[in-house]
Amino acid sequence: MRHIAIIGSGPAGYYTAEAAQKTFDDNVRVDVFDRLPVPYGLIRTGVAPDHQSIKGVSKRYEKVALSENVRFVGNVSIGEQLSIEELRGLYDAVVLATGAPHDRPLDIPGANLGNVFGSAAFVGWYNGHPQFAELDPDLQGRTAVVIGMGNVALDVARILAKTRAEFAGSDIVTHALDALQASRIERIVILGRRGPHQIMMTPKELGELGDLEQASPHVVPADLPAPEEDALLEPGLRKSVSHLRSFAAIPDSQRAGKPKAIDFVFMSSPKALIGDDKVEAIEVERTQLVHGRAEGTGETYRIPADLVVSCIGYRTSPIPGVPFDERAGRFANDEGRITPGLYCVGWARRGPSGTIGTNRPDGYSVIEKMGEDIASGALGPARKPGRAGFDALAAERKLDVVTFRDWKKIEEAEERAAREGAPREKFVDIEAMIRARR
Ligand code: NAP
Repeated sequence: MRHIAIIGSGPAGYYTAEAAQKTFDDNVRVDVFDRLPVPYGLIRTGVAPDHQSIKGVSKRYEKVALSENVRFVGNVSIGEQLSIEELRGLYDAVVLATGAPHDRPLDIPGANLGNVFGSAAFVGWYNGHPQFAELDPDLQGRTAVVIGMGNVALDVARILAKTRAEFAGSDIVTHALDALQASRIERIVILGRRGPHQIMMTPKELGELGDLEQASPHVVPADLPAPEEDALLEPGLRKSVSHLRSFAAIPDSQRAGKPKAIDFVFMSSPKALIGDDKVEAIEVERTQLVHGRAEGTGETYRIPADLVVSCIGYRTSPIPGVPFDERAGRFANDEGRITPGLYCVGWARRGPSGTIGTNRPDGYSVIEKMGEDIASGALGPARKPGRAGFDALAAERKLDVVTFRDWKKIEEAEERAAREGAPREKFVDIEAMIRARR
């Protein structure tokens, strides 16, 4: 019997558990750890609340979680309550599926001003992540600036633009829904340091901006490259750019019918955030493309900004003793292997890119590596205590472990508390989750 500990119960964690089950059949026991008492990581706290169809993949993870040889071990923080070294002593293999929970820092003067947030915090706020539920962003100003031109920037801009009715059927937490309903934001700027051909937005998600009830997307036609240049783009990006072209073609008369504007501002790199305590404006430098990179031209200007959300990517949390690639912001690894017996998957392995589905092949390839390490003898004989060893240590340290059965009780309580038409009302603090289990 081989024992595997997976740290993190998001998509990367559960796809790896699934791969371990399929590969090793009944010769494996898998414990999936999470520091929260609830599973599914980014499916719960990252994927936008109005994208419920994407969240449906958690049913697949539930099937894995409910099988005999996989266990959910919630409310246990590896690195705080238990070290990686201790875990490696208990399990044959440890897989880090910890994602990339920290914002890549916006390293400019004024980044610490009030009402400036990274996307991890802002997305966590509207998704009810216990760490960020108290964020309380001020939405009473007129202009929000969203920095970055990826899918997270799109999520944030869309959430800021939607009406209460447009959140029907979503699981946005009520504190965010109420704040958004009272929002006075009329202009949402999506700020990119490069041009329309360099956006990281996928077509389906970008297209949604064209169908909003109260907000209209706006692209300045002169900012777009000549149409014939689109032919060189890969098909997905070409489709995204075609959305930008259709936004540029929306007549003023049609835009005037909607009280909110989503303005795309290209070729402008953030230089400083201006304000006393709270942000009031963002200073940007116009850029030009040099070999695909944004280079400053020296010309600066200011955009008023009452709220700034920086959506410029994420970093993995380093763990003492585990080699870390500082530049890439993830664990140093060779195709998922850090060293025989210690592996990483998902964003902790490749950095913050790709869709939920990208994690599936990641999980399978790491289990393949593990299989090779078992076959070569690199993991030693199968003598580790696994679950039994962890349970003994958990009892000794009085850890309050939340099981999958407990989670199902928490989930039922969240479903019972749902607003009409919503799938659930999430608990936003850990104590409330733990109470609901009882
Ligand atoms: P991303 O796709 O890497 O986009 C990051 C954006 O930030 C880029 O436009 C980048 O511009 C910009 N940026 C980086 N550093 C900057 C700086 N210092 N100043 C100004 N701009 C800067 O990252 P993401 O949006 O965080 O998304 C992460 C991953 O999750 C992606 O794979 C995304 O597709 C996925 N995701 C998917 C969905 C969905 O499918 N519905 C939703 C959310 C997220 P440059 O290109 O110039 O570097």
